[in-house]
Amino acid sequence: MAIVSVKEILEHAWGHKYGVPAINVFNYETVKWAIEAAEEERLPIIIQFYPGFAEHIALKYVADFAVDMAKKARVPVAVHLDHSPSYEIAVGGIRDGFPSVMVDGSVLPYEENVELTRAVVRVAEVFGVDVEAELGHVGSGSSLDDIVNEKNYTSIEDAVDFTERTGCGSLAIAVGNAHGVYIREPRLDFDRIRAIRSAVKVPLVLHGCSDIPDDQLKESVNLGLSKFNIATEYDRAFYTAIAARADKTEQKGSFFRLQEEAAKDIRAFVAGKLRLLNPNGYAL
Ligand SMILES: [Zn+2]
Repeated sequence: MAIVSVKEILEHAWGHKYGVPAINVFNYETVKWAIEAAEEERLPIIIQFYPGFAEHIALKYVADFAVDMAKKARVPVAVHLDHSPSYEIAVGGIRDGFPSVMVDGSVLPYEENVELTRAVVRVAEVFGVDVEAELGHVGSGSSLDDIVNEKNYTSIEDAVDFTERTGCGSLAIAVGNAHGVYIREPRLDFDRIRAIRSAVKVPLVLHGCSDIPDDQLKESVNLGLSKFNIATEYDRAFYTAIAARADKTEQKGSFFRLQEEAAKDIRAFVAGKLRLLNPNGYAL
């Protein structure tokens, strides 16, 4: 199966009432095992990379091997560049081979966010690349204000205006979600999700899905959210798998063997998220 665009996957998911996990990767294995889980579950998946990790691994390396693995996968797999805070980083992602990029102008004044997003969309359209944008601001789960202050949430009227003027392919919304570890259990604003979903014409994205309770994620799928970003929990799943399977009494340990063992736990983690976000039992 050839690589499929983020746009196609999200529109299909929206139409068929399931959500797609967008898994944040940081090396070859994080890509490989997520795709293997999607193949086992027979469901589409999105692989994404946060450009803030570019010092750890160059964007081009990730784009090269992730796109190649996506092309060879037996299920639809899309590859995406996560939070690009500037024009240069977003367009640099296009140059480096990402078939989809996020431009995040959510900390900018509204008109500047429109301008930045529109500028990236114009370049992306030339290359046939999808663009995700953000409106409202998805902050940090460590800040109570970021989670509960509705001033950070996405305005319904602005979301309509923003998507029409920028031409973005999907929109990340702030509805009580946040990045990283939550200081307290999040409570998503379902009325706002419902209102934005009925007002806006593009697929919607929920960032900060790690540790959002399962029932709230299922409800979000049923209300029509399409892309669910999972970074913190995936990173933690790696740590937990390696820590649990490492044998400290072993004298001549093999990291290769250890990671092959850990892969089972990682695939199980991703499979669990694929099933959770597919509450209506969609099958390819
Ligand atoms: Zn995010």
